[in-house]
Amino acid sequence: AREIVETDLAEHPQGRWLDYATAARLLDCYGIRVAEAISVDGPDSACEAVAWLGLPVVLKATGPGLVHKSDVGGVRVDLRSVDEVRQAYREMAERVGPAMTGALVQRMAPGGVEMIVGGVAHETFGALIMVGMGGVAAELLVDRSFRVPPISRAEAGRMIAELHCAPLLHGYRGNPEVDAEALAAHVVAIGRLMDEIPEIAELDLNPVIVTPGGAVAVDVRMRLA
Ligand code: ADP
Ligand code: MG
Repeated sequence: AREIVETDLAEHPQGRWLDYATAARLLDCYGIRVAEAISVDGPDSACEAVAWLGLPVVLKATGPGLVHKSDVGGVRVDLRSVDEVRQAYREMAERVGPAMTGALVQRMAPGGVEMIVGGVAHETFGALIMVGMGGVAAELLVDRSFRVPPISRAEAGRMIAELHCAPLLHGYRGNPEVDAEALAAHVVAIGRLMDEIPEIAELDLNPVIVTPGGAVAVDVRMRLA
């Protein structure tokens, strides 16, 4: 992890928002699962990526200034054929415009509960870790709990239990119970990562999709400074 961070800061001394692949490698050092994805630069390479990932896939616009991808029509989920991927890429490029310099073809995660796990580094107080309700409505319905690391597994469990949305994880209204332990493991791991790598200025996994079989992050924003 240190090597990844130091190499990146040597190339970008001002720091930067990491690309998905670099962020994924860093998270992998801490055992955090992110959805498998391939970076592409046009409709043809997007279709080739499908051969590696299988169907269905998700297509996401990438570009230096693109942050809230779904706000600009830069996310298409559940694409079920190579033709759909090609068509979706063309439409997306037209909609998003020159801000889109490429795309990510990503494995589609099964449906589950969308949560957010994040962290910020405060100049004087050090790292602060957050878990909360995720997905597109998360900014409207703010439901989050915070702790200073290190965070034990039991503490992560308490952070999650404090949330208003906690019942969603435990089989709310006939939905299956999901793997809250896997979510807690993500919180613990993000606590360690933020504690050990102070160069990470901010980090958001939004959403982490929690299913009965585990938890996988499908969107990562990580800034080094
Ligand atoms: P952004 O936050 O930039 O708008 P996201 O990558 O978070 O874009 O995607 C927006 C929404 O699309 C997610 O909240 C989720 O509902 C859905 N989504 C994104 N990627 C996947 C995926 N790999 N599998 C399933 N659903 C996904
Ligand atoms: Mg997101």
